[in-house]
Amino acid sequence: MRHYVGGGFDASGAPFPLVDPTRGHVVGEVPSAPRELVDRAVDAARAALRGPWASWSPADRARLLHRVADGIERRFEEFVAAECADTGKPRELASTVDIPRAVANFRAYADLLAGRAERSWRTATPDGRGALNYTVRKPLGVVAVISPWNLPLLLLTWKVAPALATGNTVVAKPSELTPGTACLLAEVMAEAEVPTGVFNLVHGGGADAAGQWLTEHPGVDAIAFTGESRTGSTIMRAAAGRLAPVSFELGGKNAGLVFADADLEQAVEGTLRSSFTHSGQVCLCTERVYVERSVFDAFAGRLAAGARALSGYGPMVSAAHRDKVRGYLDKAAADGDVLAGGGVPRFSDDRDGGFWVEPTVLAGLPEDHPAVREEIFGPVVHLAPFDTEEEALALANAGPYGLAATVWTGDVSRAHRVAPALDVGTAWVNTWNLRDLRTPFGGVKASGIGREGGDHSLDFFSEPMNVCVKL
Ligand code: NAD
Repeated sequence: MRHYVGGGFDASGAPFPLVDPTRGHVVGEVPSAPRELVDRAVDAARAALRGPWASWSPADRARLLHRVADGIERRFEEFVAAECADTGKPRELASTVDIPRAVANFRAYADLLAGRAERSWRTATPDGRGALNYTVRKPLGVVAVISPWNLPLLLLTWKVAPALATGNTVVAKPSELTPGTACLLAEVMAEAEVPTGVFNLVHGGGADAAGQWLTEHPGVDAIAFTGESRTGSTIMRAAAGRLAPVSFELGGKNAGLVFADADLEQAVEGTLRSSFTHSGQVCLCTERVYVERSVFDAFAGRLAAGARALSGYGPMVSAAHRDKVRGYLDKAAADGDVLAGGGVPRFSDDRDGGFWVEPTVLAGLPEDHPAVREEIFGPVVHLAPFDTEEEALALANAGPYGLAATVWTGDVSRAHRVAPALDVGTAWVNTWNLRDLRTPFGGVKASGIGREGGDHSLDFFSEPMNVCVKL
């Protein structure tokens, strides 16, 4: 586990332990970047902005992104193994979602570059000769990319790829809990001959560590962050002094709406997936489901049976996160009904030392209960009935977050009425987490600032400049 700064690997800094969440054992060490190394990374990224990188054409950059994607594909199995080791997620998930999406992130932005057009206008002038206005898109400069532990490589590359596509240089800091695939990415960047200083990687924590030092650094021109809403507020304060632009993908407390006219089997299957994928540790997971009263008991019974039958799921990422999730479960069990799960699975082997929580279905809690209001980020979903479409919308739209929602209905008019009325960045109808990388992605309210995806990312990571030429 090494930092990658100015084109060189570096292991300086006090080591912190890396823990296998599946068994709870310490399995390695990661160096925590000292402040001086963070400074060097920002300096290297700044120097690279003035180097040959500045004159690379979009086509050159697109070819580079494809080389990085090729490099990840060549070492696919190593990436899958590293992601599983750090997060404890099932191999099936890492090999079908995390690592392929990281490859797709580089390819998508490489391809999108080719279709980018700069706009121009012919402007009338009093002398009749006119003027030509056109826009030039410039990189923002040095971009800090700070990412969380749940989809480590997917979310890191979701920002690194468009940042490089638009000609920026990057200092990336992955979550201190999951540094493995970022280390491999640095090796791939070196193999792909990314120019010196264009991509840098530093490890370490957030507060009083690499994360904070990066966000406060006067040499960092913009910050792209995915993580908790509270951390977003802290980072925004750090960026405010120098008015550095931020792009934030933050927390959620996503609602699902199940109408009586839905295909119930499909709604149950979809909710099992949307609530329990990666043991609920995906920002888009559904943590509260509102079900039309006439089908509530049937839906609840089938969902609970489905949750009890789940196997092959992974643990919580850390002991601290397991304790947080269990804290919500204890409160929920005291105040409401546990329809499925609520406990800890037993394996009778060394996995019993890991950070496991059973897939859990709750019901009967008031809407202001912490388990219904706050993001748990674990395998926990709460069910509540509703009577009318208006009530369903009001319930879904309540609360501080607005990341995503899912609507299950067989009525096409209702689908088009309800989905756009949800206060979220993404609403899915009769599906969940179906992503097209060209579409806008982000959240409203406490779930984020700005949009990423497709042109939205390329717009965030570049600044349009107007040139006006009098003819
Ligand atoms: P987190 O906010 O604790 O940490 C995220 C990153 O920020 C880590 O790299 C961490 O070291 C760093 N960090 C922490 N404090 C910092 C500080 N003061 N200054 C600078 N950096 C700091 O989040 P997490 O626990 O790693 O991830 C889970 C959260 O991420 C959940 O809230 C989840 O909803 C959210 N998330 C959102 C999306 C999305 O797309 N909206 C995607 C995935 C995860």
